[in-house]
Amino acid sequence: METLIKVDVKESPTKQDVLHNRWHPDIPMVAWVKPGDQFRVECVDWTGGQIRDDDSATDIKTVDLSKVHYLSGPIGVEGAEPGDLLVCDILDVGVLASSQWGFTGIFAKENGGGFLTEHYPEARKACWSFSGIYANSRHIPGVEFAGIMHPGLIGCLPSRELLMRWNEREKALFDSNPERVPPLATLPYAETAHLGRMKPDAARAAAAEAARTVPPREHGGNCDIKNLSRGSTAYFPVYVKGGGLSMGDIHFSQGDGEITFCGAIEMAGYLDIRVNLIKQGMSKYGIKNPIFEPSPLEPRYSSYLIFEGISVDEAEKQHYLDVHVAYRQACLNAIEYLKKFGYTGAQAYAILGTAPVEGRISGIVDIPNACATLALPTEIFSFDIRPSASGPTRAVPIGPDLAVVR
Ligand code: ZN
Repeated sequence: METLIKVDVKESPTKQDVLHNRWHPDIPMVAWVKPGDQFRVECVDWTGGQIRDDDSATDIKTVDLSKVHYLSGPIGVEGAEPGDLLVCDILDVGVLASSQWGFTGIFAKENGGGFLTEHYPEARKACWSFSGIYANSRHIPGVEFAGIMHPGLIGCLPSRELLMRWNEREKALFDSNPERVPPLATLPYAETAHLGRMKPDAARAAAAEAARTVPPREHGGNCDIKNLSRGSTAYFPVYVKGGGLSMGDIHFSQGDGEITFCGAIEMAGYLDIRVNLIKQGMSKYGIKNPIFEPSPLEPRYSSYLIFEGISVDEAEKQHYLDVHVAYRQACLNAIEYLKKFGYTGAQAYAILGTAPVEGRISGIVDIPNACATLALPTEIFSFDIRPSASGPTRAVPIGPDLAVVR
């Protein structure tokens, strides 16, 4: 496999012109390929090396989130025109020899937050080691699972018209409650924009309007779909000539929802990609957002404990078919259960973010309660977590916990 884009995990990402951390139609392509080509793309971790493999969460607390995500690309595909579909086979995903570890952060409420930030407002960190396809953490004993490596973030450059629509609608949402912590949306922020090979004059103007990489949008982007794993095929809408495919935010593993925000096992790595085109595929198939086919390869977990959650919140307030509330309850229920075996809440929260848990919208029509479920594979634990008449026995050693701010 020929390496098309090479990165240096020891060098500052801002000094690497094959990386960019915003979406803008004018970011110059760093390489051109032809339909049918296959190639390797190396990626730094989403923060660009801001997080260290140590036992303090200070780096999570103080991480500069205006700099994320550092993406490799954009890659131009010869012949790609707006309206086409870019067919992207994810042939393989792997760990870089120069960076064989990963991390999970619970982000501080005032700097990023997360799905359960009201319950876990302080920064915490778990570091993970990789043993082939398996991941384990010195901060979370008693659990090991097979990774389903995938890019958290992948997609094509937006057109100018699409970028303007993003900025307009996200600004309107932000303005509805500008003081909120965490904010309702991440708006363009010129100061830390890195626009790859764009010339300084053009980059100054573009930085003020270039979209942040945080939310998923019509082009794909930060979808954090754990099943977009090696062996899957994605179909991306093309909005600019050449497409401009960029990718990064590689995860070793992730649970549905990536609930701790940086809830996956984050890592630097490589993606082996093959591209093809379906001319005018967007109108041919009525496609507005990407679609994908999952991989034939997946870890074979067959035994699950499934936690239910309904749209009644922690204060017993009734919500109307609110899946966000229901999934939160399912997660909180799973955390309370795991605490009975000796895990701290933070450890249990991190397990749900990283392990291959399946989240589902199980019921969305039975007024007033939506029902969301969270399926936790029981085989990832080194002890039996199923309920029994004898009750839970403490199985997790006292002592190890997620790293705190020191
Ligand atoms: Zn990520």
